[in-house]
Amino acid sequence: MEENKIVVTGGSGMVGKSLKKIMPNAIYLSSKDYNLTSEKGVAQMYHDLKPDVVIHLAAKVGGIIDNINKPSTYFTDNVLMNTLLVDYARIHNVKRFIGILSTCIYPDKVDTYPMSEDVLHQGPPTPTNFSYGYAKRCLAVQIDACNKEYGTNYQYLTPCNLYGEYDKFGENSHFVAALIKKIHQAKSTNEEKITLFGTGTPLRQFMHSNDLANIIKRCIDEDIYDSFNVATEQNVSIEDIARIALRACDASNLKIEFDDSKPDGQFRKDVSIERMKSIFEDFKPTKLFHGIRSTYSILQLAWKLEV
Ligand code: NAP
Repeated sequence: MEENKIVVTGGSGMVGKSLKKIMPNAIYLSSKDYNLTSEKGVAQMYHDLKPDVVIHLAAKVGGIIDNINKPSTYFTDNVLMNTLLVDYARIHNVKRFIGILSTCIYPDKVDTYPMSEDVLHQGPPTPTNFSYGYAKRCLAVQIDACNKEYGTNYQYLTPCNLYGEYDKFGENSHFVAALIKKIHQAKSTNEEKITLFGTGTPLRQFMHSNDLANIIKRCIDEDIYDSFNVATEQNVSIEDIARIALRACDASNLKIEFDDSKPDGQFRKDVSIERMKSIFEDFKPTKLFHGIRSTYSILQLAWKLEV
């Protein structure tokens, strides 16, 4: 039997690189191959590649400050990419489409935590990444609508915050990547402390990007078409994550200082993983300590080679 042709948008990003290690035969795209915010680019991509399966990872993704400064860019780029990719998938009779959302799509506040998949429309996303959250929420609406109207069997996965060795470690990085970099710099220059944004009190679920990649692959291999949250059970305060990271990077001597003039972001956004656990009963996500430790050891080597 002929193998399905799998195309991964956002293949040059963090999750794309994790996926490539376990699904090397798929086609991994970057923005250099096709600009997916343009209808011409999306139409050309489907015309050239004729995929059977699309794993849609491409997104305009960034840290909290960039989200606050460029809300229009985050909204427009993500809405355009998502809308065009799903609609053209349907027109080209793509058999399977997996859209990757984010727990930022959930309401800023709800009555009961962790949030299950069905509270999605119970309130607006948090103000700090309102545009990004709303744009990604629209992808869920669009996929559900496409399935209803056209009988497709497309799905979306909603992961919590991610980290890993393929994350961005420079400007505009996410929390765990920025934390590891700060710890590394403080160790290298014999500083006594690291300074983190906000108060340290918000709670977060963090998953290694390899774990999300495994779930995506298993959905394909095991014929799973449900849409569900993908997260770990560890819902930990920013301060506790920083302490775990200090231990994981052998830097427990460093003190942590919080700069509360900087924004905290949403206080909590933990999602329920009951649906995911009922599908993949044996799935065991990487513990934060081990994930940060392995990420740091890979990066330390790379950073040493750069010097
Ligand atoms: P990432 O590292 O920022 O990579 C983004 C990818 O999208 C890159 O491959 C980039 O290509 C591509 N892209 C951006 N604009 C594009 C455009 N106009 N046309 C074509 N491609 C474009 O993202 P990630 O962290 O791997 O995230 C993957 C998915 O998971 C995203 O949908 C994101 O929303 C979701 N997610 C991420 C997190 C997280 O913490 N990172 C958490 C929850 C959900 P270039 O390399 O060429 O720029």
